Amino acid sequence: MYPNVDLHIAGAWTAGSEGETLPVLNPATGETIGRHAVASRADLDRALEAAARGFSAWRKVPAFERAKVLRRAADLLRERADDIAHLMTLEQGKPLAESRLETLVAADVTDWFAEEGKRAYGRVIPARSDGVTQLVLREPVGPVACFTPWNFPINQAVRKIAAALCTGCSVILKGPEDTPASCAALVRAYLDAGVPGDVLSLVYGDPATISSYLIPHPVIRKISFTGSTAVGKQLAALAGSHMKRATMELGGHAPAIVYGDADVEKAVQVLGANKFRNAGQVCVAPTRMLVHDSVFDRFVDGFTTLAKGLKVGDGLDPDTRMGPLIHDRRLDAMEAFTADALASGATLRTGGKRIGNRGNFFEPTVFTEVPLSARMMNEEPFGPVALIQRFSDDEEALMEANRLPYGLAAYAYTRSAERAAKTAARVESGMLGINHHGIALPETPFGGVKESGYGSEGGAEALEAYLATKFVSQASF
Ligand code: NAD
Repeated sequence: MYPNVDLHIAGAWTAGSEGETLPVLNPATGETIGRHAVASRADLDRALEAAARGFSAWRKVPAFERAKVLRRAADLLRERADDIAHLMTLEQGKPLAESRLETLVAADVTDWFAEEGKRAYGRVIPARSDGVTQLVLREPVGPVACFTPWNFPINQAVRKIAAALCTGCSVILKGPEDTPASCAALVRAYLDAGVPGDVLSLVYGDPATISSYLIPHPVIRKISFTGSTAVGKQLAALAGSHMKRATMELGGHAPAIVYGDADVEKAVQVLGANKFRNAGQVCVAPTRMLVHDSVFDRFVDGFTTLAKGLKVGDGLDPDTRMGPLIHDRRLDAMEAFTADALASGATLRTGGKRIGNRGNFFEPTVFTEVPLSARMMNEEPFGPVALIQRFSDDEEALMEANRLPYGLAAYAYTRSAERAAKTAARVESGMLGINHHGIALPETPFGGVKESGYGSEGGAEALEAYLATKFVSQASF
């Protein structure tokens, strides 16, 4: 049912040259379901040579032809969505419907970049002298090393590889070791659609060993990383010391302001659904709900009832609404956050404990009135934990929203156009959803500010990361 996962290097699916493999666990049962290959230094060297060769050929393929290949990849992802979703749920734990949706969204992302790649236009700048032509050319930046995490095994990867490939770059993808098969299925769909084998390699192994070898390597011209802020800072520093371009999609601690004039029931439903989606292992999950005094009790009651009503279980069960955490490390993290919050004097409304002793299940958890000194008010919980705080004037809420060094997503609920505009102007975040979730579409910018990183992985902005600018000024004889 679950395949062992090989590396893909230079057009062939292959074991690691040293024969090393690591186990893959099902987070709902703790059982080993398969193994993935581990790339050695020699494997990485072959991937680098392939990326260099692949880039020289792929950059010359007309954007129109590259688009046809990507469109075929999107079709294959749609055809294979049920099978891929099954693999993803086995290795990642999310409910099957979410896995299927993620695969279908990846097809949409691929379609969108296929089209957008045709529009990587340069421009002509009027010259000061007769007979001079000034051209701005947009060229693919070169071979790219991408590092992607396990929370969205396909979508974190597709945003990078589709944008890179549509502009003519080649890619070495270090996929997520916890969830290797669904990411490999994405790569397989691209290769089956006609992406040349040298253009897209997939490797697994020790993340730090691979990134510290690939990032400084002269073949690699750009890196793109999705993961924690702590790791992102290390990789950005390494990229900086070798003058490599970088896109960093890092952690968040999203505030959600529920003003006194909000549609409270809608806020509860949308924020609740998005807090507990993927067991809270989402970088844009709403985490600090900042709720006006006048609607605080209604919001807390509604949110707590929603959390208590969520069916937690194996993602393969069609009734499951929330699956397990990815590994036992995250369970330990949730327990430590909870103990710290209780010791700080926070009020636990529901949850706070692991469920059973098989699989990595943790209760949907709601805390209120959490002191600012508690760890979870400052560190990204990255789990099914919601914090609900009270405020009495708008200024207080905006100050709290901006208090942390993170700046990825933010949310606000209000019926006032003036409050909505003020929130949009004041909140320090890369994305803001007002009165709905509405972020993370292929055609809209996706990225953070402050310690949540830089660069965008959606919208026309996403292409910029993979394009270099060359200015050509030519005089006629
Ligand atoms: P972790 O820090 O060990 O790993 C997070 C991700 O970074 C993994 O995909 C891992 O493979 C990768 N990574 C770690 N060290 C690396 C290195 N030196 N070079 C290249 N890649 C490296 O944490 P974890 O326990 O797996 O996940 C929990 C934390 O990770 C969370 O607290 C969350 O902040 C963060 N995370 C964020 C996202 C996101 O979407 N922004 C996704 C997954 C994890």
